[in-house]
Amino acid sequence: MKQKNEPWLGSHQAKPGSDEPGLVAAREVIISQVAWDDEGQAVMGAMAWALLDAYHRKWHGEQWRAVQIEATQQAPVMNPDTGHASRTFTHAGKIDGRVVGYGRQMLLEHKTTSDEISSDDAPFWRRLSIDSQISKYLVQCLQHGIDLDGCLYDVVKKPNTKPKLLTSAQARQATSLNEYLGQHVPDEVAKDVVDQVAANGRAREPLALYAIRLKQILAGDPDAYLVRRCVYRIDSELHEHLREIWAMATDVRAERRRGLWPRSTHACWQWNTPCAFLGICSGHDDADGVKWQRKDQVHQELDELETEVGGRDVITNSSLNTFLACRRKYLHKYEQGLQRVQADEQRNDALYFGTLWHMAQEAWWQHTMEGNESDGEGSNN
Ligand code: SF4
Repeated sequence: MKQKNEPWLGSHQAKPGSDEPGLVAAREVIISQVAWDDEGQAVMGAMAWALLDAYHRKWHGEQWRAVQIEATQQAPVMNPDTGHASRTFTHAGKIDGRVVGYGRQMLLEHKTTSDEISSDDAPFWRRLSIDSQISKYLVQCLQHGIDLDGCLYDVVKKPNTKPKLLTSAQARQATSLNEYLGQHVPDEVAKDVVDQVAANGRAREPLALYAIRLKQILAGDPDAYLVRRCVYRIDSELHEHLREIWAMATDVRAERRRGLWPRSTHACWQWNTPCAFLGICSGHDDADGVKWQRKDQVHQELDELETEVGGRDVITNSSLNTFLACRRKYLHKYEQGLQRVQADEQRNDALYFGTLWHMAQEAWWQHTMEGNESDGEGSNN
């Protein structure tokens, strides 16, 4: 349990509807997972807190109910021409869940993004029409006899704002009237503003005030930040994905034989970040040196995999994308299992927020499962 020192986090308890089990459980996840004395984490915790509030308000009345949450699936890689299973490879992945509602049974995927999501024409949604992860999960379900109608893609966009400086009028109103943007300001928070003004002449929004402003932004335009869409695949698209998995398995086998693993140097520097293996590929680092270790299990994110070679015979969506981006990177990551001994100290904020949101979502959806068994909707598998 991490430090919990934000008194404003308890202020929701008096509000009507704030005691619903899924919301309470998801809030507990945020409270317990965020180190509130770490400034960066605390800001992201406040953002998750405000988004969760808006998410619950927008979606809790919908029919969607979970029938399965967080499950690893594994299935044979099939030769699409002969229908025979590969003797070497399987493919696997971890789904966020399966849900039923509105007469349909769907795969569930939740995502966080900074991209625009409110328009049907946004690149974010266009990309999904060929997204390999959705195809892979639907194919795996089908191989296990679960014929899903499609995927419920459940997306939140992070508001692009950090705690800002209060104007003098806002600081006065918060400290003398206990009010900010029309909302009540707890005494402890008002005292924080008083102390900041006394020390610096100005005050930045304490987390409680930042959360108030975030909630107003989200309430003002929820459709810009909280979007669900159903994404579908026709049989020919799933068949095409099966062919692609088979082709990759064939290519991995061929690279193992010839030992070449060509480098794709266009992938060495992407999104202003160097590839983790750039030092090795450029000869400045030694894979057998003290900075590197070799993982026994190359897909550590997947539980209960059936594999006799540490996952080297398992194709995932990540490994497929890595193979397509750079075969040498695939060699380092999924054949050799190379991993830096000391993780990069620079925190990836987007990754941290995505993980936090994912955990909160898991708790929220878990509570929609209650009662599903009795209504028969979840029994068609
Ligand atoms: S593994 Fe590929 S992408 Fe990474 S540094 Fe080497 S050649 Fe570049």
